[in-house]
Amino acid sequence: MSSACSLLHLAEEDDRVFSMGDYEAALARWCPGCGDHSVLTAVQRLLTEEQLKPEDTVFVSGIGCSSRFPHYMKTYGFHGIHGRALPVSTGIKLHRPDLEVFAVMGDGDCVSIGAGHWIHAIRYNIDMMAMLLDNNIYGLTKMQTSPTTPQGTKSNTQPQGSWLPSMNPLEATLGVTNASFVAQTAEWIPSHLFATLKEAYKHKGFSFVRVLQRCPAYLPKLFEDAITDPETIELLVHPDGVEANDLEGIYKARVYHDPTDIDAARRYAEDQSKVRIGVFFRDESRPRYEETRHLPTLTADEKLAVLEEEFDRYAV
Ligand code: SF4
Repeated sequence: MSSACSLLHLAEEDDRVFSMGDYEAALARWCPGCGDHSVLTAVQRLLTEEQLKPEDTVFVSGIGCSSRFPHYMKTYGFHGIHGRALPVSTGIKLHRPDLEVFAVMGDGDCVSIGAGHWIHAIRYNIDMMAMLLDNNIYGLTKMQTSPTTPQGTKSNTQPQGSWLPSMNPLEATLGVTNASFVAQTAEWIPSHLFATLKEAYKHKGFSFVRVLQRCPAYLPKLFEDAITDPETIELLVHPDGVEANDLEGIYKARVYHDPTDIDAARRYAEDQSKVRIGVFFRDESRPRYEETRHLPTLTADEKLAVLEEEFDRYAV
């Protein structure tokens, strides 16, 4: 292609307008009624609204039902290994900061085997978005207790009921030094889900969204109260969070929460008497690793010379 042709080609590309269909890949194979379907639709809607170029967008996952996500997005994707969505995402974003990076994890994936990566990704605060699709169970391996499984829940690994109190991912995230965006939403409230993902996407830094997600196959009653009785849900509302004005007629329990107040955010996260959704915390002034690390600017030849010098040190 001549340079004139390639310039013309680029100009044409910049005129593209993407519809939701442009982000849809294979037909999702999750169970009927699985909450993953709602998240997929909300994410495809977000990409459409933001007009993200598919070739500049990457979805990274680990292992689990929700980790099939990259297969269903017509973008770049990496369906990796258990608990490793975040280190892979980190590597991609550090080497290609121009890409939009999304990590999709389940509770068994992020909060258990991937917990070390989760904690450090929060602290590194690299500009990407992480979604924890939390259905409180290992679904892919057919109903094993996960760290977020409610205490007493009978599963295939703990048939007499899980022994320990469940872990609270919001509390844990808010407790990590340098956390910069923490939110919770529910996949069965599509407008709130979309608005929360949008705020997370806009945030400059590591945005962590816990999505409460139904698994009708293995824990069909898990969120039954929250779904059938709107009074069990409390919305955190704020102009810098999710206002949810469209939900006023349904969800009346609301609290005005300034997301810069981390102490209040921690109190709301810790108190489990209500299911709280909204932006708990955001602070764009927190340092981001990609900006604060000091990388020497070397040419390829200079890098080679440094390497040779290092090798020479070990010559025998
Ligand atoms: Fe969804 Fe549960 Fe089915 Fe997995 S097992 S696809 S989480 S409903």
